Amino acid sequence: MKLRLLLAALLLGELVWLYDARFGLPEPMAPIWAWLRQADPGAPTVVFVVLDTVRADHTSLCGYGRPNTPFLESLVAEGASFSCHTYAPGSWTLPSHASFFTGRSVPEHGVHFVLPTDEDRKVFEGTGFYTRPLDDRLPTLAEDFAGRGYQTVSVSANPLIGPDTGLTRGFQVAEVENSRGWKVVRTVQHLLRWRVDRERPLFLFVNLVDAHEPWEPVPDGLDWVEPRSAIGWGGPWSPFGLDDLFPWMYPRDDTFDRFVRGELSPQEAGPWLAHVTDVYDHGVLQADRAVERLVHSLRAHGWADDGLRLVITSDHGEHLGEHGLGDHGRFAHEPVIRIPLVVWDSAGPVALPEPLAGTSVFHLVRDGRLPEVAEDVVSYAFPDVMWDKVYGRGGRPQIGVIGDGEKLLWEAGAVSRVDLVADPTGVQSVPHDGSVPHPLDATLERAVQRMSEASTVGGGLTDDMVQRLREIGYVD
Ligand SMILES: [Zn+2]
Repeated sequence: MKLRLLLAALLLGELVWLYDARFGLPEPMAPIWAWLRQADPGAPTVVFVVLDTVRADHTSLCGYGRPNTPFLESLVAEGASFSCHTYAPGSWTLPSHASFFTGRSVPEHGVHFVLPTDEDRKVFEGTGFYTRPLDDRLPTLAEDFAGRGYQTVSVSANPLIGPDTGLTRGFQVAEVENSRGWKVVRTVQHLLRWRVDRERPLFLFVNLVDAHEPWEPVPDGLDWVEPRSAIGWGGPWSPFGLDDLFPWMYPRDDTFDRFVRGELSPQEAGPWLAHVTDVYDHGVLQADRAVERLVHSLRAHGWADDGLRLVITSDHGEHLGEHGLGDHGRFAHEPVIRIPLVVWDSAGPVALPEPLAGTSVFHLVRDGRLPEVAEDVVSYAFPDVMWDKVYGRGGRPQIGVIGDGEKLLWEAGAVSRVDLVADPTGVQSVPHDGSVPHPLDATLERAVQRMSEASTVGGGLTDDMVQRLREIGYVD
């Protein structure tokens, strides 16, 4: 009898736990936690959220036709500042996060694709890419906050924000929560309850990967999406890990490979891209819901009582068929570099000019305001020789420079011009040979100079590497 009672109690506890986590109802203990908190009014809680892989033009915040960011819009209705023309510093997770955390451009911090040498191979094994970790000498946001007496907590659903890459330096608590949505928020709630001192101010970083491939299914559909199965760039998958357990049930398909190589017919590509776009847009909604749960929980637990600065952005977007591409990481095209930004600060609104450099996010998080001198709006995509080997694309460096509705796209020395007002996804461009001066010429020149000097940061270049870089048009 006692055993049954014990089992029933355990089951009840588990059900309450799941219900609380899933539906985020007010927790009975929340007022007690809030009462225990006695923060310094001069030190607001600072929360920095990266919605991994969210492109600005696929959010209803930025005018997209599908209502997939209702919470971000509600923050704006409350008085939050926002920008739909913020440009990611880099074209994938590592370079952009390294810029957010250091305030440096991608060539300056050196966390980007490098050539596969023996020296870098160990880093490759750690992250799955040929790249370097963040240079120990560069100070980080988390170190800055820690130096000011803050407790620094990172919860990342993207495993690249971990110790191997140097990006968790300065965080006193750093966890990788390899899951999505509410489970990540649940981990944050747990850490804030049991691992932090409630009398000290808090800097919290959260990365949510709901919009990153592979995407979860939409089993019942929504008003704007028909029921869809789980899919990634590698084909169907199981969010329950069944693809790992029974790989023969989920064989990798080569649709993505054929598409990027230009071998997929429009008849095949159309329905496939429609499926991908549906689950991607739904992933953005899931990320928005997770942020809603996170913010409600922080407020319920008193973390906003003495001031809250909330900065929400993305690290890069995603190709959804534009330029004959899927995925992100090797290109500075608009779908990959234009990201949304929302800033809610109890100290008051912040004027955000457009376009805005993604490196400014560092200052917005650290100081609650932009740097005094406006930064160049530049996105860098370093060449990925491994991708080039497989697809014959992505092996040439790109730089995007943006200003006044125009963009200059530099690719291994060739420059084209894009009218972003007429062509917001930047799929049409005209050559810009420099014979007619352009207002962005000087900015581009600075960016190219920085990129060409980049490889001396964080490791140094051998003669052999210089020769190989020359071959792919990376240095003169
Ligand atoms: Zn990312």
